[in-house]
Amino acid sequence: MKWQGQIVPNHWQIMLPRKILQSKAPPASRPDCSKCPMDDIGDPRNYARCCTFYPEMPQFTLTEAYLERPEDDVWQSLVTRRLLLPEGLIPSPYRLQRIGSGPCDFFHRQTGQCGVYLQRNPICSGWFCRSSSANQEAYWSAIKHYIGHCETVIRQWLLEEIGFDLESYVQCFDELAAQVTKISDLQTEGWRRDIYETLWQGYIGHEWELMCRAYEHYKDNIQNLDKVLKSRKIRYSKSFTTALRTMLGPHYRGVEIVSYENYFDLTTAMNKAQKCLEQENGALQGEPNSLVNRVLQTSI
Ligand code: SF4
Ligand code: SF4
Repeated sequence: MKWQGQIVPNHWQIMLPRKILQSKAPPASRPDCSKCPMDDIGDPRNYARCCTFYPEMPQFTLTEAYLERPEDDVWQSLVTRRLLLPEGLIPSPYRLQRIGSGPCDFFHRQTGQCGVYLQRNPICSGWFCRSSSANQEAYWSAIKHYIGHCETVIRQWLLEEIGFDLESYVQCFDELAAQVTKISDLQTEGWRRDIYETLWQGYIGHEWELMCRAYEHYKDNIQNLDKVLKSRKIRYSKSFTTALRTMLGPHYRGVEIVSYENYFDLTTAMNKAQKCLEQENGALQGEPNSLVNRVLQTSI
């Protein structure tokens, strides 16, 4: 769908409130990717430019992309490397430490394109490396948090709807908190084999089957998602999140969107976005920001 002058995933239309959908965002200064500043920084991964990110993706958008291009090698690789969990593509703690070290699994080197463009995650969808104002950046940040929150609520609801034991899954993370530094596979960057098997609750070898069932249920219930979003909260392990934050240390700021504690509740996120719009219409223009500098700093 085209929204605010750019292509964003279709499910945003279901998730964003009408008031925000119909509003006009603070103007974005569009990057010229043909003159990417990352081409000149002497980094061997320059070909991937800003697609050095390791995105988190819910199972229902990931499966939509999978069904569109099942012949792509990436899908089997995600399973073989144990990068998937029942909720979707969830970076292991080690991957979070290495976030920005890509290229991203979905980046097609030959074409220079994103393999999940129409389903890409909110961070990728709302990425403006040359932002025109702090206000514009704040607006997109609120939208990204909002969509991230919605995607998490829906992916967890889907699991419960198809009979997956979400409660036990979350409790597993409570138990993993004490060993957060040891639960990744450093070779594959995925989850350690025994942890992966526990979290999948007997679905090993049938990972895509479970994901496809969740996606079918998503499609059958698109009309009801609004009610789900209003009635459910995110389930997460507080002790695991705390342990992860300690482990990540200075990296934490860069990956805060994956920490559920930092997702705004829906009302707060929309109030933030709305405030940005009001400021944009009034006199309160933000200072120019330095996002492009941050791209350069985080990718070297
Ligand atoms: S860093 Fe900016 S200019 Fe370069 S490819 Fe990414 S969005 Fe385009
Ligand atoms: S998901 Fe797509 S847009 Fe996002 S980092 Fe990967 S290749 Fe780039």
